[in-house]
Amino acid sequence: MATKSTKSTKSKKFVFGLKVDRQLDGDKMNSDFIKKVLAEGGNGAAIAACMQCGTCSGGCTNIDLMDMSPRTLILMVQRGEWEKVLKSNALWMCSSCYICTSRCPRGVRPSDVIEAVKALAIRQGIENDATRFNEIFVELVQKRGILFEPELMQKYGGLPAMIEQAELGIKLTLKGKMSPFPEKVKDPKKFSEALEKAKKP
Ligand code: SF4
Ligand code: SF4
Repeated sequence: MATKSTKSTKSKKFVFGLKVDRQLDGDKMNSDFIKKVLAEGGNGAAIAACMQCGTCSGGCTNIDLMDMSPRTLILMVQRGEWEKVLKSNALWMCSSCYICTSRCPRGVRPSDVIEAVKALAIRQGIENDATRFNEIFVELVQKRGILFEPELMQKYGGLPAMIEQAELGIKLTLKGKMSPFPEKVKDPKKFSEALEKAKKP
């Protein structure tokens, strides 16, 4: 009986001789890197438990835009392949829809892992279109407590973006989905307090 179970464990590791990019053995995991990601906000994420089943990638809403699937990204985090993770556009294409997290059978929480890696990347000075968009978005929300889309469009894309989106903007405004004037939150004091609280580690 014992011999049988050893054989089946071995055979699981190689399917048709291929096991290049799949589940990592515990001793190959970069625990320092995993701890760093967990400390950055991946609290509760069970990165080491990922079994590379691909369920997250199968349900990912933005996978067509990504050069690395959520499954592979988790594998790269396990391996400590920081450069590959940083270069991947998956960090910036993820829309935080949480489908991957709701579907993961191992509690890995890929969306939280991606958010945590993003924060680390920004702190390391990574700059691109997505980080610039995020900066403007946060700045404007801090200013009014609520987003005024035309202002975001103007700051991010300038006049060409305003012209390009004008037709859509008018349609949204006519349907009452967007205000033509900037709005403010009802209780700015409460909002500022909430912001301060969120900034605390
Ligand atoms: S669904 Fe969970 S266990 Fe499966 S590959 Fe994605 S993160 Fe890993
Ligand atoms: S949270 Fe990001 S990685 Fe997860 S399914 Fe949504 S877009 Fe994909």
